[in-house]
Amino acid sequence: MAAREIRIYPDPVLKTICSPVTIPDDSLDALVQDLLDTMYQSGHSVGVAAPQIGDTRRVVVVDVSASKLGRDENHGSLVMINPEILDREGKKTMREGCMSVPDYTGNVTRAEMVVVQFLDRQGREQVIRASGFEAVAIQHEMDHLDGNLFLDRVSNLKTDVFRRKKR
Ligand code: ZN
Repeated sequence: MAAREIRIYPDPVLKTICSPVTIPDDSLDALVQDLLDTMYQSGHSVGVAAPQIGDTRRVVVVDVSASKLGRDENHGSLVMINPEILDREGKKTMREGCMSVPDYTGNVTRAEMVVVQFLDRQGREQVIRASGFEAVAIQHEMDHLDGNLFLDRVSNLKTDVFRRKKR
């Protein structure tokens, strides 16, 4: 298990509608571990979705607990298999980035609170209520499972997308 190479836009796998996991098996657990390794070894990422490492199963990982914006309110390390949003409330606009779109950030408006149902790494059904930055991160990662990037969510590509400063 290891961090995997991140697929970069316009790699076609990022436009794929991913498939639900039907039979959890060892390859699923290996995928989960690779997603976690990829997220944590990046040093700054708060989430990774399976298509970003070239796998088209509906699996994402999210952890905003180490980020300034998310540390006060979070569920720690989340493994979400077949996630579904059951309810959403409010609106929140944040500047988003994505490892698959390394040169740009963008202002995106999403729900401020979401109730999400998913299977965890052990295959148990979970329902959580997430808000603020964690809710935004979950929605961003779930978008990847339907082939959507934050670039598809900005209201105006001319005024709401920003080139990152060279590091
Ligand atoms: Zn992303």
